Amino acid sequence: MALFTPGRRWQPPFYPFKKEKFGKRLLRKIERWVKGPLFGCRMCGNCLLQETAFICPMECPKGMRNGPCGGSTPEKCYVDETRPCIWYRIYKRAHKMGREEMLMEVLPPLDWDRVGTETWGDVIRSIKKYGTIKLVRSRFTRDKVQKEIAWESVFKPVRQPGWWQGDSLYHPPAYDEPVSELERQLRTGKFVVTTEVSPPLSTATGKLKRDIEMVKDHVTAINFTDSSSANPRMSSIACSKVAAELNADPVFQIAARDKTRTGLQSEIVGVNEMGIRNVLCITGDNARIGPSPTSNTNILDMDAVQMLWILRRIRDEGKYLDGREMKHPPKLFLGAAASPFASEPEYQALREHKKVNAGAQFFQTNMIFETDRLNVWLEHLYKRDILDKVYILAGVTPIRSHRMAQYLHSTVPGIRLPEKILSEFEKTDKSDQEKLGIDIALGIIESLKSIKEINGIHIMAVGWESVVPGIIADSGLET
Ligand code: SF4
Repeated sequence: MALFTPGRRWQPPFYPFKKEKFGKRLLRKIERWVKGPLFGCRMCGNCLLQETAFICPMECPKGMRNGPCGGSTPEKCYVDETRPCIWYRIYKRAHKMGREEMLMEVLPPLDWDRVGTETWGDVIRSIKKYGTIKLVRSRFTRDKVQKEIAWESVFKPVRQPGWWQGDSLYHPPAYDEPVSELERQLRTGKFVVTTEVSPPLSTATGKLKRDIEMVKDHVTAINFTDSSSANPRMSSIACSKVAAELNADPVFQIAARDKTRTGLQSEIVGVNEMGIRNVLCITGDNARIGPSPTSNTNILDMDAVQMLWILRRIRDEGKYLDGREMKHPPKLFLGAAASPFASEPEYQALREHKKVNAGAQFFQTNMIFETDRLNVWLEHLYKRDILDKVYILAGVTPIRSHRMAQYLHSTVPGIRLPEKILSEFEKTDKSDQEKLGIDIALGIIESLKSIKEINGIHIMAVGWESVVPGIIADSGLET
């Protein structure tokens, strides 16, 4: 284990794709010899140590560079249970060192052209540009602001290349009229209901269409998951197109797990042509929890925060990531997943704040089974002053059986069921378990309706779509 990074390196160091001059090669070797034992450096060539409390974030199996995923717990990473979640360590140390707010800056994805190369050369050039003597002097001044300015002048250009320019600020959407029915209804202050329809396993769309027709008049929008739990199915884009053709308002989900930045940008320009406006950006479950043979478990090309940042800029500035401009940018209502119970609510709120700054306009949360704990999370969002910048749709799932309850509790990342619900299912006869699940869901909806910060619910029936209209009617949320 590296001296300052309390975690094992996930994969071996990167090697550069190109042959470099002797000086650069030598510098790379020295950097690796020094940063390897100290930080477990993987030589990503895009160093962020300054921002991550001097713990290398590339120890994360997903290569998350903007905070933990929704499946992490303080004890272990869900991709590799033998290691801790490195982002917990980063948060804890940042908190201790008073560097917590530095975690708010939206950090760029890797520039793969730099992967395997050194970063010290950039730092040296940046110091020279700023003035070596000026920097040394700034270290001895008592003026904290001057010290900070000098430090930032050197390191910001290194971690925020010209093609990215991330920051820690909120960027309100640069348009006035709502772009989708979901956005329109949320703006009116209505308590909205969205739901999910499971994408089919084959090319047959009969059931998909019937399910959409069955729920569309009861909800404001319908989500289509993007190969949830890393299980391939019909794509979210195809299902969203079918829904748009049936006059429903689709929420197109994109999992970073299966995307590159090129694919993301071209797809997003394309979906607008299909009448799709709501886009939910998620990092996605790791391939490790998917079926065998396991797909690529290498680090991701980008995370959900970076996806939001890229899409917000495409929409508001009409610019691709590479700077090319487009005359007619897509209209998008951008959403993100939120996991109120995945980790410490305080840490989770920091990540949620970052997503809002990056571009998230609405959250759909993970399944909620305890509203008391949800309130703790909301309290932290309130402290971060973001509740008026994002709509929150709380996730509700009717549990069908004791088996499903146990599966959700022990297998699905970021979900924990309270003991009370687990034991109720255990005590209930099999034939009555469906009714119990619906009653529990109705009780949760009732509690959620009374929380003023919650703007609606998102019903995830996981293949049990037939109960959705009944739940909506019984909860008094019929449109
Ligand atoms: S962020 Fe990249 S360059 Fe910095 S220590 Fe980690 S792997 Fe090395």
